[in-house]
Amino acid sequence: MDEHEEIRRQHLVQRVAHELRSLEGRTGCRLSPDVEAAMGAVPRHLFVARGMEPAAYDDTALPIGWQQTISQPTVVALMTELLRPRKGHIVLEVGTGSGYQAAILSHLVERVYTVERIPQLAEQAAERLKHLGISNVEVRWGDGRRGWPEHAPYDGIVVTAAAERTPSELPPQLKAGGRLVLPLGNHPLAQELWVFDKTEDGSLDGRSVLAVAFVPLVSLPADGNPSPRANG
Ligand code: SAH
Repeated sequence: MDEHEEIRRQHLVQRVAHELRSLEGRTGCRLSPDVEAAMGAVPRHLFVARGMEPAAYDDTALPIGWQQTISQPTVVALMTELLRPRKGHIVLEVGTGSGYQAAILSHLVERVYTVERIPQLAEQAAERLKHLGISNVEVRWGDGRRGWPEHAPYDGIVVTAAAERTPSELPPQLKAGGRLVLPLGNHPLAQELWVFDKTEDGSLDGRSVLAVAFVPLVSLPADGNPSPRANG
C-alpha cells in the first residue's frame, strides 16, 4: 500500500466525518465507526478516470468516463449511513459507475448486487473489484430501474443516479423494514436526496434529507445499446 495515498485517504475520512457532523441537523446521522473504517480501506484513487488520481482524495465528484461521475465522498458516506447497512444484509445498488459505492458497501454487508447501464463501466467496475479481492459484489449490465428481481427482496436499495420519481419496480423488491435511498428531482443538477422506510403494510414512508447533484437515471435505448461517449 502506498503510504502517501494512505495518509491522504485518512485526511479525507476526517474531512467526511467533519462534513457529516455539520450536516447532522438536517440528515440525522454522523459517520459511524464501521462506515469510517470502510472509507479508510477503499483506495478511491483506483476508481477515478486516468489522470484524475491526484484529486481522488478531495471531497469532490470526479469523472469516470462516458460522461459519468464517481460521487462526492461525503455523499457516498451519507447515503451509506442512511441505508443503515448491517452484516447480514443483501443490498441492491442502481448505478454501479466506478464501483466505489459498491466497494464501500462490500465491507458492511453480506452481499451487494449492482446494476450499471453502460457496459464498459460495468465491466471495468467488475474487474476493479475483482482486482481488489472483493468477492461479495456482483455487477450486471442492464437497466437498474427494473432492479434485480432474482435476488430480491433486499434489506436496502440505493440508487446513485437521479430520477423524477421512484422507479415503480424498486419498492416491491425491498423487504418490509428495509430502506430505499435515492436522489429525486427533474432538474439536471439539483435534486434532493430522499430516504424511504418500507413499512409492514408495504407502503413507503419518506423524508427529504439534503440537496444533491447526480447524473440522471436514464433508460436503455430500445435496442438495449446505451451508445457510450468517451470523455475520460
Ligand atoms: N455509484 C457510482 C456513481 C455512479 S454515477 C460510484 O460509486 O462510482 C451514476 C451511474 O448510474 C452512471 O454510471 C450511470 O451510467 C448509471 N445509470 C444511469 N441510468 C441507469 C440505469 N437506468 N440503470 C443502471 N445504471 C444507470
